[in-house]
Amino acid sequence: MQSTLLANDPPGLSSLLKMGLIGLSRVQLEDTLRALGIREQALRMRQNQIWHWVYHRGARSFLEMTNISKEVRQLLADAYSLERPTILSRQISSDGTRKWLLSLGPGIEVETVYIPEEGRGTLCISSQVGCTLNCTFCHTGTQKLVRNLTPGEIVAQLMLARDELDDWPEIGVGGGEARAITNIVMMGMGEPLYNFDNVAQAIRIIADGDGFAISKRRITLSTAGVVPEIKRCGDEIGVMLAISLHAVRDDVRDRLVPLNKKYPINELMNACRAYPGLANSRRITFEYVMLKGVNDSVTDAKELVRLLKGIPAKVNLIPFNPWPGAPYECSDSQTIDAFATVLLRAGYASPVRKPRGRDILAACGQLKSTSEKQRASQRRGV
Ligand code: SAH
Repeated sequence: MQSTLLANDPPGLSSLLKMGLIGLSRVQLEDTLRALGIREQALRMRQNQIWHWVYHRGARSFLEMTNISKEVRQLLADAYSLERPTILSRQISSDGTRKWLLSLGPGIEVETVYIPEEGRGTLCISSQVGCTLNCTFCHTGTQKLVRNLTPGEIVAQLMLARDELDDWPEIGVGGGEARAITNIVMMGMGEPLYNFDNVAQAIRIIADGDGFAISKRRITLSTAGVVPEIKRCGDEIGVMLAISLHAVRDDVRDRLVPLNKKYPINELMNACRAYPGLANSRRITFEYVMLKGVNDSVTDAKELVRLLKGIPAKVNLIPFNPWPGAPYECSDSQTIDAFATVLLRAGYASPVRKPRGRDILAACGQLKSTSEKQRASQRRGV
């Protein structure tokens, strides 16, 4: 067996031929090690060691794994890779928000966004390339190419952000020191509940106490309202839930979120009421994008309060983030204030979300890989 390509194993043909190890569940990792010929008695220990190196330390090469025998490291390095997706572009907003455009294969691109805030930092992760929902105010909805991301591609977004932010724990230091990324929101491109199994596997890895150890209370999954999967989400994933509500009447919501025709508001609210684990300390976040003259009246606000009755809830009013060619405008600030006042009086604190990263099109609903456009302009020779 050749023992080259270890120390600085460059991304190239050799690593393309290797299988990615990132994203395997613990059981899959153990099966992989068994297939490599690791002794049955050593399997659990090896699996734990590798898990720690990959997800706690952020190891990029098997050679680093110094508590594992050279022979095993070599077996792993010959067959598997810890390579991250290629970064096609990095952007930093004037408010510190960062956006990475990642290539997952020819023409397959997704975006990941990091939002630093006082005392915390949130990573906004994508679950699909593009989206099938076609919400009329959302930029991602206008993108054609769609496929589900694999668990590895979902987890790799967090690994890559930790690489970029130099956010892995120092060797020899316990897990106690503050991290740049403290919270995860599945609010990037795609509908996470349409990629349930892969998202669930990725979240289990992210929440695992021997790896990233990001608590499920700090992970929020946002859905446009795939009603049949909401209960499963609570039972099997157990993360915090956010609902993209955006309208209080079915005729308006049908236009904004076409999925509403399948799962109307009443069914959606019932699914929320029944969300496993719901409590005052574990509230559902309701997102509501403020669209001028569409859903932003005081009557709408009062109806929203009525709809939320009996559900432990937070409200996030999101000023609409415009994108080129969008058929909507953002409500003006007096209208947003009047809407927010109704919510405040009903007991919902600080309901307006501050837009972040607008200057780099990294704000909510603006994510869309521009690769298609760029390729077209390249063809035109511009
Ligand atoms: N499919 C999921 C997650 C992706 S969208 C969902 O629908 O929840 C993440 C959030 O951004 C959603 O609340 C979505 O409605 C909101 N959003 C989309 N486009 C927006 C825009 N242009 N301005 C403000 N918020 C937007």
